[in-house]
Amino acid sequence: MGSGALDYETEPPGCQPDKEIVVYDWKRLLQSLLFPVHCRLCAVRTGTAVSLCPDCSADLPWLESACHQCGCALPAGDDRLLCGACQQRPPYFDTTTAILQYRPPVDYLVQRLKFSGELAIAPLLSELLALQVCSREGSLPGLIVPVPLHPSRLRERGFNQATEIARLLGKKLQLPVNHRLCKRTRKTDTQSLLPVKIRHWNVRNAFTVTGEIPARHIAIVDDVMTTGHTVNELARALKRAGAERVEVWVIARAGH
Ligand SMILES: [Zn+2]
Ligand SMILES: [Zn+2]
Repeated sequence: MGSGALDYETEPPGCQPDKEIVVYDWKRLLQSLLFPVHCRLCAVRTGTAVSLCPDCSADLPWLESACHQCGCALPAGDDRLLCGACQQRPPYFDTTTAILQYRPPVDYLVQRLKFSGELAIAPLLSELLALQVCSREGSLPGLIVPVPLHPSRLRERGFNQATEIARLLGKKLQLPVNHRLCKRTRKTDTQSLLPVKIRHWNVRNAFTVTGEIPARHIAIVDDVMTTGHTVNELARALKRAGAERVEVWVIARAGH
């Protein structure tokens, strides 16, 4: 599957089932028979293990054409691999996998997860992201690292949505997840409330890598990416700690 509506028929290449995944899928099949899955957006029975019906899937704002490095939307028909910003000043991360544009109803889903604590939305979002990651070329990373929240914000919210998505992705893709490797040591203002020009300064030196990194190829996971300054700062910290390749995996990409 490339970018586009969810493909219910084809097993994505790169995610060929091994024994363990087959067992896992049988469990899910049984679960879907016993507990029919309903669409998260329109509530109809989906008839599959994915909680998104084909009609709602077709209507989602899929990110069809995007910069290979930062994931920003490129105009339709633009066949450049990189946007102008990445050509002029490449970020520290090497590539971005984003599946959806951050506009209705994706913003609704993400906000329900983040601010209303509807953790049941996380499996759907991580399922969509896993399908996209499996469908692209190239090797998988050796480690998944969710973007950490500052401890005080984690206490306020009670959970980190990026960690929830990362955990499910790790299970689905059979990859290790480490949510303790990186810490947010500086409490930053909420990026979305700040003018774009100063967001870069707001997250500067916000992250610390707490130990030796166990893999040279790492994927950073977050729910939404807007200017990319937050993931860029985390990628910078990981590269300083010895990472050779850092990817960014996000559910949604907002324009900037
Ligand atoms: Zn639906
Ligand atoms: Zn770019």
